[in-house]
Amino acid sequence: MDDHRDDKYEETELEKKDSDTGSKKDDGSGSDYEDVCFICRRPESKAGKMFKLPNNICVCDDCMHRTMDTVSQFDYQGLLNNTNMSDLNTGKGGFPNISFVNLADLKGDGGIPNKQKPKKKKKASAEIDIRNIMPPHKIKQKLDEYVVGQEHAKKVMSVAVYNHYKRVATGTLDEIEIEKSNMLMIGPTGCGKTYLVKTLAKLLDVPLAIADATSLTEAGYIGDDIESVVSKLLAAADNDVERAERGIIFIDEIDKIAKKKNTNSRDVSGESVQQGMLKLLEGAEVEVPVGANSKNAMVPLATVNTRNILFICGGAFPDLDEIIKQRLNKKTSIGYNAELKDKYDKEKNILRRVTVEDIRKFGMIPEFIGRLPVIFTLEGLSREMMVQILKEPRNAILKQYQKLLELDEVELLFDEGALEAIADKAMDKETGARALRAIIEEFMLDIMYEVPKDDNIGRVTITREYIEGNGGPIIDIRSRSAEHPDRLRVVQDSPEV
Ligand code: ADP
Repeated sequence: MDDHRDDKYEETELEKKDSDTGSKKDDGSGSDYEDVCFICRRPESKAGKMFKLPNNICVCDDCMHRTMDTVSQFDYQGLLNNTNMSDLNTGKGGFPNISFVNLADLKGDGGIPNKQKPKKKKKASAEIDIRNIMPPHKIKQKLDEYVVGQEHAKKVMSVAVYNHYKRVATGTLDEIEIEKSNMLMIGPTGCGKTYLVKTLAKLLDVPLAIADATSLTEAGYIGDDIESVVSKLLAAADNDVERAERGIIFIDEIDKIAKKKNTNSRDVSGESVQQGMLKLLEGAEVEVPVGANSKNAMVPLATVNTRNILFICGGAFPDLDEIIKQRLNKKTSIGYNAELKDKYDKEKNILRRVTVEDIRKFGMIPEFIGRLPVIFTLEGLSREMMVQILKEPRNAILKQYQKLLELDEVELLFDEGALEAIADKAMDKETGARALRAIIEEFMLDIMYEVPKDDNIGRVTITREYIEGNGGPIIDIRSRSAEHPDRLRVVQDSPEV
């Protein structure tokens, strides 16, 4: 790839973005937000010019006219004769279902906070320029800094994302329409699926919404309806519809919405959810509530087109390996070349051999799989990978603890045996790398508690014995050096604590 491209990305350093986003604040001036009609809750872009009333209340033209018409037909005299004014709002008076808004009750700015207003469309929309899209090798390089192993997954994702944003940049003007690169990632729990997507969204600087498929149900049933994921994305994009339309939606635990086997009742959280998602995955205009997670009369709606939203689905798909083995065994056990039935039983990365047919057999409907053309698998973490995860990524857990103790001017070391012992403990828990933090936290608690007590401690070394419960960490004491009396220096190994 040419050089000038490479230069551009040096500026888009992740860390820079981290600090940028942290400082972005809603100043409440409202200039970035559209006005919303106080009565019908439509934003300015839909309802047209607003009448501005005191207390920052806005009313659209339609509602204003309707109100005027109603007011002019009002039988004030009749009302006053038959009704006690204090009953008006309780509906006991002559006007059932009509309540009166007392403007004096509305303090401040008209009751609609900015977080419920869609952002104004910017005139010069930030079009994606093909030359600005990070090329796959750069994306992978960045992912390498954070995610250990999973080489295949990182490569597939980098290419898919690159193609996706190329598709967004070219639009549909060409005769050949590039297919959407929605992805399906299959891998055991805790192997880095969510982490990969999070890192990807961060380095591309696009909004990300993470949803759990288990909480989704068909619209109208208890649970989140499917469109709520788009609403989440809009919130992540700071209510900026255009930004949201280029974001990423990650739906975790997608295997939990597999078709339920042998059920007589309606499958509202399985197959129906898959059906409901088809439109979203392909691209549809959805009306989503702004600043809330349910549609109701009081919440303004924004229209979001999901055509350019990248959907990534992830799941552990337990027992999928059995389905794959069955298929492979069937193929080889027919005819003269029949092989041993348990030939595939010991194959480690059997998931790699997954086909669309296997996923369909698992319970995903063909239309659904068809809309996730990029299918790839992640490997379960080995002990060596766990050790690497502990110490190598940019924000590795060990580095975080070392930083914390460094602030107390104490050096923290882990010997190799300790890391292996931690990895072994994590492997036993079978929750992937997720267990690592919990295990370290348990051991570090005492150290973090004791170290600040004693100014003389200069270095703490965590050993295998300490992790396995047969000993303590090695504590090195420091003494004041002769040349720099105010500075402490590590001088000796004290016996284990
Ligand atoms: P899941 O695959 O279940 O979505 P996660 O992505 O949530 O798992 O992983 C849990 C945590 O484990 C992450 O926050 C991350 O810190 C760590 N982790 C998992 N896999 C890796 C990996 N390959 N490289 C670096 N860290 C990882």
